[in-house]
Amino acid sequence: MAQHFIVIGAGIVGISAGLYLQRDGHRVTVIDERDPGDGTSKGNASIIAIESCIPMATPGVAWDVPGYLSDPMGPLAIRWSYLPKIAPWLIRFIAASKPDRVEEISIALRSLMLQALGAHKTLLKETGEPEILRETGWLAIFETDKKFQSYQWDLDIQRRRGVKFDIIPAEEVRQFEPSLEPIIRHAVYYPENAYAANNYRLVKLLAADFARRGGVILKEKVTGFDIGLNGPTHVNTASGKHAADSVVVAAGAWSKQLTRQLGHKVPLDTERGYHVTLPNAGRMPRMPLYSSDHSFVITPLDVGLRFAGTVELGGLEAAPDYRRAEILMKHGRRLFGNLDETGRSDWMGFRPSMPDSLPVISRGTRWANTYFGYGHGHIGLTLGPLTGRLIADLAAGRDPGLDMRPFRIDRFQRVHLGW
Ligand SMILES: Cc1cc2nc3c(=O)[nH]c(=O)nc-3n(C[C@H](O)[C@H](O)[C@H](O)COP(=O)(O)OP(=O)(O)OC[C@H]3O[C@@H](n4cnc5c(N)ncnc54)[C@H](O)[C@@H]3O)c2cc1C
Repeated sequence: MAQHFIVIGAGIVGISAGLYLQRDGHRVTVIDERDPGDGTSKGNASIIAIESCIPMATPGVAWDVPGYLSDPMGPLAIRWSYLPKIAPWLIRFIAASKPDRVEEISIALRSLMLQALGAHKTLLKETGEPEILRETGWLAIFETDKKFQSYQWDLDIQRRRGVKFDIIPAEEVRQFEPSLEPIIRHAVYYPENAYAANNYRLVKLLAADFARRGGVILKEKVTGFDIGLNGPTHVNTASGKHAADSVVVAAGAWSKQLTRQLGHKVPLDTERGYHVTLPNAGRMPRMPLYSSDHSFVITPLDVGLRFAGTVELGGLEAAPDYRRAEILMKHGRRLFGNLDETGRSDWMGFRPSMPDSLPVISRGTRWANTYFGYGHGHIGLTLGPLTGRLIADLAAGRDPGLDMRPFRIDRFQRVHLGW
């Protein structure tokens, strides 16, 4: 039966949920305090990372935590002042690093990835600009033999999950990607990956399509809900009350408090990340690159060359530390030689991250008219459209074509005895 859905959040996830719910005949209102795409979806690395099936926490991560605290400029850093708040999340993060959990998590991630690109294409077809999607693959590059040797562990998991890749012989790397300085010793090409020529415009295009189909987008801050006998009846904002039959929380890194008001506790936190974009870089790789040694991504966007990555556990309130963006540039200059930095822009965004690296894509178990789609961490652009489709499937009672248990909202509320 057609309903009125209110989706909170106009990032890649919320807008995609709106579009898929519309396809089922529902009336949809999206509410966001900012303009569509102006949250974390604005400045990511723009990769549709189909190869990504390895969680952030891997065996041995517990031994790395002291290093995260002592090196504020490392690829993963924890702010001391935030340690007491993030400690429960870190404990779960370390628990998720056990080999058998990593295996389970990688299976769950791969099940999503196999459907992720299809969902992008389905939505993009309707926007009039499907060519924004570039199916080039991406290249993981290694400057040291040591890093490449340790990467064999990653390749083994990827093999087990059926990820496609080609190891590029050292002498062919320069030919494969001529824009790089001759400092790369190894490379692995992943043909399944794609990217958007402009991640921000991608969300804007989808939002415009949503509005064209009768969707309403309100620029208001959601403060809470009126709860009736059968769940939320109204979504409350600073400007008033909006009646809804069902509610979708897709508020990215800001979803935790809203979720709590709807009866669930989730260990959501944020992995802050940075980017530098050079509109006139003067060098452009022919496809996105991943620096395995320093854990960041380089993407040839239509707005310039973007260096994006790093993880900072520092919460939603602390001011950005743009020295972290400068570190990305330092590596970028080494990889590409002279880069023109005129017009450079730096940015910081809040990845919405669950400690087990799995998103929440779920119907509420407290109230049947609540749905949750967030916590995608490093892969929210990749999985945004699919998450929208899965939420619509859950609402329609359709078979989503994959095991949804790993993504349940209440998975941390239960003792873990397998899914
Ligand atoms: C440096 C960096 C690089 C990344 N690179 C990639 C990549 O290459 N590929 C990839 O797949 N992912 C990448 N990501 C991750 C990706 O950007 C995120 O996972 C994704 O954007 C999350 O989308 P979202 O819709 O859940 O959240 P958001 O885009 O943050 O949207 C949430 C929205 O909710 C709104 N909101 C919150 N609270 C309220 C409220 N109370 N009332 C009203 N509105 C509210 C916010 O204003 C916001 O617009 C990267 C992230 C970073 C930081």
